[in-house]
Amino acid sequence: MFNETFGCMVFNENVMKAHLRDATYTKMMKIRKEGMPMDPEIADEVAEAMKEWAVEKGATHYTHWFQPMTGITAEKHTSFLERGRDGEPILSFSGKALIKGESDASSFPSGGIRATFEARGFTVWDPTSDAFIKENTLCIPTAFCSFNGAVLDKKTPLLRSIEALNRQALRVLDILGEHPNYVYPTAGLEQEYFLINKSDYAKRTDLILTGRTLFGTVTPKGQILADHYTGSIRPRVKKFMEDLDEELWQLGVYSQTEHNEAAPCQHEMAPIYARVNIAIDNNQITMETMKKVADRHGFVCLLHEKPFAGINGSGKHNNWSLSTDGGDNIFHPGRHPETNDRFLLFLAAVVRAVDDYQDLLRISVASAGNDHRLGGNEAPPAIISMYLGNRLTVLVDALIHGTDPAQALSDAVASVGRLPHGERGGDDRNRTSPFAFTGNRFEFRMPGSSENVSCTNYILNTIVAESLRVYADRLAPFAGRRDLHDELMKLVTEELKAHERIFFDGNGYGSAWMAEAKERGLCNFRSTPEAFIHYDDAKNVELFRTHGILSVEEIEARKNIGLTEYSKIVNIEANTMLLITDKEIIPAAIRAGSEMARGIESKSALGLNVDHERKILNRINEHVRALCLNNEKIADSASIRIEDPEQAGMHTYRNTIPLMEEERRLVDELEVMIDKKYWPYPDYTDLLYYV
Ligand code: ADP
Ligand code: MG
Repeated sequence: MFNETFGCMVFNENVMKAHLRDATYTKMMKIRKEGMPMDPEIADEVAEAMKEWAVEKGATHYTHWFQPMTGITAEKHTSFLERGRDGEPILSFSGKALIKGESDASSFPSGGIRATFEARGFTVWDPTSDAFIKENTLCIPTAFCSFNGAVLDKKTPLLRSIEALNRQALRVLDILGEHPNYVYPTAGLEQEYFLINKSDYAKRTDLILTGRTLFGTVTPKGQILADHYTGSIRPRVKKFMEDLDEELWQLGVYSQTEHNEAAPCQHEMAPIYARVNIAIDNNQITMETMKKVADRHGFVCLLHEKPFAGINGSGKHNNWSLSTDGGDNIFHPGRHPETNDRFLLFLAAVVRAVDDYQDLLRISVASAGNDHRLGGNEAPPAIISMYLGNRLTVLVDALIHGTDPAQALSDAVASVGRLPHGERGGDDRNRTSPFAFTGNRFEFRMPGSSENVSCTNYILNTIVAESLRVYADRLAPFAGRRDLHDELMKLVTEELKAHERIFFDGNGYGSAWMAEAKERGLCNFRSTPEAFIHYDDAKNVELFRTHGILSVEEIEARKNIGLTEYSKIVNIEANTMLLITDKEIIPAAIRAGSEMARGIESKSALGLNVDHERKILNRINEHVRALCLNNEKIADSASIRIEDPEQAGMHTYRNTIPLMEEERRLVDELEVMIDKKYWPYPDYTDLLYYV
């Protein structure tokens, strides 16, 4: 079954082989695998083959599919239709149109990098990622830049970082006497999401306008019984999952596991890992497909990081590793990691990277949505730390303290029982850790569910490339010498010692960790603006410059976009709160109050005791009054215009957010006091416990 439909909508290597001449196919493979520059000579042939294949599949249009700084993918459809020499309609698609497209860039965020008079932007084909057909349109993955070449998208720095990492990894491997053709990062992106009923969604202005519930109280059940996690799947949801898999498989996405997650209505899809740029393209396709398929099944798919207060939010675990072109996973520790020089050196490189660039990793996951999740005792805290699993922790401890690692490992095995090496301890889990080694890869658990994780991965790739650059410089004089091993072990030990503060295997959710992390000098940026402010710190600018990833102007642009987006999102939420309270909540409370008042009047006329009802009515009244006053404050705070993105972001965080929290408290208390028949929209019980 898979053979017939899997990837049937993808212009993949098999299709290329069948549709291109041998020489062209070989060239394409070199371009894709080894990062060779695109050869314009073959572009026409590839374009023609793509068009023929796509038209046969029913496609009528093509689009350059790109990832602007909005995080969602963008497309502008053009049909293959051209007027022939004699005025007859023909289908045409040239190499030029494949390689380069022109797009009006003026409506995409540029962070001030593109002067407004220069609105033109270019999309440039990324031949390393497969083109695919989506609803009669051939989608060509592209990078997006401004007329003068400044980077305006999420893909370009990612592709550059893959190159930078390859460059430095090859230098290090060369010193170790290994000579693969190239090294590439892999990623497996676990996608969490919620499914709720479309009919409920339609009644909630907050979900429609902001993607999350701005009001609502946890039901008494919440997720207390933990009966949803990997529990049996609702039949309707099961059908959705089957349909989703089918569509994803056609698009060449290796969707592998589907299961229920911890919160009610929460689910997860995990694909088989792939090269990081492909994995990210596939993840963008996955998110889009989830929304589309959900609609067909009467659901709405919520990808927001925190759609509901009081129950878990959604993340996107970023499993990351490095592989050689031979498919050899560099982070596979093997039976004896203590004597595996390559593994130890690359492990140290990641440790150094994570410690030195905690700020960048934190920035890479910063968003208004994710602020609700990080540190909320359900996802990692906002502090970056690393957990290596029992086995490697024992090994690293031994190296740091100068004891015999082999002995320490065998003592540890003896103490946990008679299981052979590798079957135990290597990938045990500390679910509270933001950055964990899980057997043969690192799992970064901070990214939010809706994110385009290009940013996370270009940062991850670049910071590890930087460690490797330093190591290659240091070890180069020892290449081919007998004392290389000793020098390498000296370096690894020094590095692990120098970065010991980043290791943490305790409870990352506990308040004790906050205090300890502070003592260790680790960063703790609670909010998006506090994180983004550090994007252009001197050391970060230097890092991106050294590896040719981004210029200082491009980094500043990204910082401004991140900060501005944060303020915009929060302001939209604040204004939505005003809309809902003014038009729905306050009128409902007044209606309910009037009915109560009439009841109290007629009951007291009969001489009945109405003290309790009076009390409730009074509280409702007080809440309405408080809401009206708070609304004025929110309106003031959200309407203040501050030019400087840093100051605007901090204003939003310090002033608007606390007012919104107060607003939510008032409305959520009202919800409990008011007769359900007056409540204007479905509550959490309706939303989360449908059948
Ligand atoms: P979890 O226990 O975290 O839920 P899953 O099995 O759901 O784990 O997901 C693990 C993910 O890690 C999958 O997407 C898998 O393909 C991915 N993965 C496995 N090996 C690698 C690797 N070498 N590089 C990157 N990702 C990997
Ligand atoms: Mg996971």
